[in-house]
Amino acid sequence: MCDITRKSLLYKTGVEYGDYTINHIEGCFHGCKYPCYAMLLSKRFGRIKTYNDWLKPKIVVNALDLLDKELPKLADKISSVHLCFMSDPFMMNHPEITELSLNIIRKINDFGIRITSLTKGRYPSDLIDYGINKANEYGISLVACNANFVRLYEPNAQKWHLRIKNLEGIHRQGVKTWVSIEPFPTPNIFRQNLDELLNRVAFTKKIVFGRLNYNKNTSLYAEHRQYYNECSIQVAEFCNKYGIDFHIKEGTITLPRVLLKQKLHLKKYA
Ligand code: SF4
Repeated sequence: MCDITRKSLLYKTGVEYGDYTINHIEGCFHGCKYPCYAMLLSKRFGRIKTYNDWLKPKIVVNALDLLDKELPKLADKISSVHLCFMSDPFMMNHPEITELSLNIIRKINDFGIRITSLTKGRYPSDLIDYGINKANEYGISLVACNANFVRLYEPNAQKWHLRIKNLEGIHRQGVKTWVSIEPFPTPNIFRQNLDELLNRVAFTKKIVFGRLNYNKNTSLYAEHRQYYNECSIQVAEFCNKYGIDFHIKEGTITLPRVLLKQKLHLKKYA
């Protein structure tokens, strides 16, 4: 695997549910074809040229040194650090990435800062033994419970049911878990039962739901706005029923907010 160096690592994210974030990997073996927004950005900024370039991740070798410099200066301002919005910190077939991610988490936790992480790969089953902070939140990304969908759209990621099994395993050890159901496809791309997906992840603490962007087939589905409104309401009602925190990503709901509140009698949707 190739190495790269960076001049800085920790930065404030513009993503609505994040605080600070780091990207200690460039590229991602999982090669999602929704398409992957991180890959589109990397192409636009000239970091990669082709999809095949994206499949060969590069590790930021000076990541831990940068954290040693940046954490003492920024610690007071940071409430959480997300790993990562631009790659996958627990990537399949890349143990060196998992190892670096765990070292990074430990270092950040040592400053009393919690982390959130998101993967379509695999968490170590003995995660709890790494001396991690109990306030950390470990999530999986899951948009369909279907092997054909995963083969087509997430070709090198962990199988969908093994992602859930892996997350259930660490949940049973008392680790906080969450699920990102984003980018959720419209029925012309993949028809599925959202309730079935929600029921499979009902053990988690939080669900993030968001629409599929950057795919022309989404807008070709004439009722896509109505569909995402209905799905968002379904997610919100499900989470309210089972006491799960939730966040609906911006742009997913197009109903006027006041109407949505009336519709749901929601206390949590602010
Ligand atoms: S796992 Fe995430 S970063 Fe990796 S290719 Fe898929 S969407 Fe992109």
